[in-house]
Amino acid sequence: MNEDNNYQISLLSAVNSKLAKSEGMLKNICDISESAFIYFDYEDKKPYVLGNWSHFFGFEPSRFVSVGQIVDLTEDEFVEGIYRVLNLEKSGEEKASYDFKLRDKKLYISCNVNVLYDNAGIPVWKIVVFNDVTRFKLQNDELTYMAYFDTLTGLYNRNYFVVMLGELVEKAKENNTVVSVLFIDVDDFRKVNDGMGIVEGDEVVQSIGLSFKHLMDDNLLVSHFNSDVFCMAIYDPVGKRSVEAVTDRIREIMNTPIKLVNGKEATLTVSIGVAEYPESTENYLELINLAEIVMLKAKNKGKNNVQYYDKPIIDEFIENIELEKKMAKALKEQSFFMYYQPQYDTNTGELRGVEALVRWRQEDGSIVSPETFIPIAEKNGSILLLGDWIIEESISDFAKWKEEYGNMDDFLLSINVSSLQFKNKNFVKYLISIIKKYNISPTNIELEITESVFIDNMQEIIHKMKLLKDFGIRFSMDDFGTGFSSLSYLRDLPIDTLKIDKSFVDDVVTDGSTRTIAESIIDLSKKLGFDTIAEGVEQEVQYSLLKNIGCENIQGYYLGKPMQFDQIGKLLDKRGMNTPDTEEVSG
Ligand code: C2E
Ligand code: CA
Ligand code: CA
Repeated sequence: MNEDNNYQISLLSAVNSKLAKSEGMLKNICDISESAFIYFDYEDKKPYVLGNWSHFFGFEPSRFVSVGQIVDLTEDEFVEGIYRVLNLEKSGEEKASYDFKLRDKKLYISCNVNVLYDNAGIPVWKIVVFNDVTRFKLQNDELTYMAYFDTLTGLYNRNYFVVMLGELVEKAKENNTVVSVLFIDVDDFRKVNDGMGIVEGDEVVQSIGLSFKHLMDDNLLVSHFNSDVFCMAIYDPVGKRSVEAVTDRIREIMNTPIKLVNGKEATLTVSIGVAEYPESTENYLELINLAEIVMLKAKNKGKNNVQYYDKPIIDEFIENIELEKKMAKALKEQSFFMYYQPQYDTNTGELRGVEALVRWRQEDGSIVSPETFIPIAEKNGSILLLGDWIIEESISDFAKWKEEYGNMDDFLLSINVSSLQFKNKNFVKYLISIIKKYNISPTNIELEITESVFIDNMQEIIHKMKLLKDFGIRFSMDDFGTGFSSLSYLRDLPIDTLKIDKSFVDDVVTDGSTRTIAESIIDLSKKLGFDTIAEGVEQEVQYSLLKNIGCENIQGYYLGKPMQFDQIGKLLDKRGMNTPDTEEVSG
């Protein structure tokens, strides 16, 4: 008996110590877990309170009396909810989860409750777990914020703007009114980014965004789409919120110089495209597209402009896109070909050379002007492939002339090179490789470039030109007088020829001041040691006047239109007959 007792006692104490051990273990786990727990046993009506209570509720588990303490601490709007889940057995539910906040703390707490019932539906136990979800919540809020707002400017982002525009259009439909969309693009923004730096670029966008924000009201949405693009939507644009009033205010904002952190100032302009529901389209997504397309027109018109929706602009845009597609095909199928326009020396009357001019024959046989497709090719980058083709095709034609007509030492093949093409890093290598492939002299090649090539990085371009010049290639400044032409900067450029633009030639006979300008250009050009050539000469009077004021070379319909390869051959044939040798024989 005694032994039995002893056995029982030691068994009990073993069980007890094991229990105490696992209870201790449980407590440790709960303490470490950073959560707070309540285990409620309905039989002995005793709550076991464990975990990190002070973190949540500011008191130790030992001071817990009832869940009422938690409810008391809870922010008003959550009181009802937390009361319900903490007393979940009252509703007979088994599981619930509820997120709430305490009044004086910035914590977000998630409360999970589980209740076990017996077969009769009487609760047996209940477990309540509190978790700190603050970090998750804040992240979530940030994500929500980022889903709707642009972080740089705090304006609505593109996605949210689109959603709200959809709602505005719906509302306008019901109320039979108008919604205007303004697509706003900062002019020459790349120059800010390139010239000042990306950080400053961001600063500029931010500053513009903040100013635009002041325009916002219930009927005027302002959003930042990306980089330097903003979009606004005006519901029922009348009076102070008419498109005109709003664009005036935008202009006012843009007229104020933007002060940057580094002390510099920037003054910029914007181009704005406007499309309207329901006149332009009834589809709100299309509204934005249309506004963007007409904005591009505002840019082309010289920037700092407002362009309203106009169907022909859209038609032209769509046509261009179709042309773009056709061009890609044409490049593959080789439906481009070259024309050559003769250039003559006014003193000797001799052929100076030819300008290579590209043409495109479409499938229906019609010929598209390069004035139409070159700008498109420049925009979509296909000018690089096309430009390479033009170089090889015209140089190979030149090589054929040379083979057939012998001495071509003084003959110049002028090739137009667009800015993008010239700036391409493979340009020099490619051109030289073609010159070598056809075994011609680089001194026969003159590249026609326009002033636009110098806009971005003048020093780099000059370096490239010098490289080619060392090789023997000449340069001609095309369309001179139409760009930002300042005569003083010409001096620093490694060019050989100045090509006086047709617009001067057009008026040179009829307008005295044009003649004076032409005269001084020719004069200066001579002083700087350049050749001069006038293009677009259509009349005899223009020819003789230009010759009289010292223009050394002439190109134009008066002397010859752009023509095919073999027609140039005929001219070269004649030139052969005019050489001093033949003259001697004939004379
Ligand atoms: P551009 O370089 O100024 O070429 C002169 C343009 O004036 C040519 O038009 C030529 O046909 C035209 N023209 C010449 N003489 C007269 C005249 O007396 N009267 C009139 N009304 N026009 C005259 P085209 O061939 O249509 O070329 C237009 C523009 O397209 C060129 O202007 C050039 O900017 C570009 N282009 C043409 N071919 C090429 C090319 O191979 N490569 C590149 N990059 N651009 C080209
Ligand atoms: Ca040209
Ligand atoms: Ca020209």
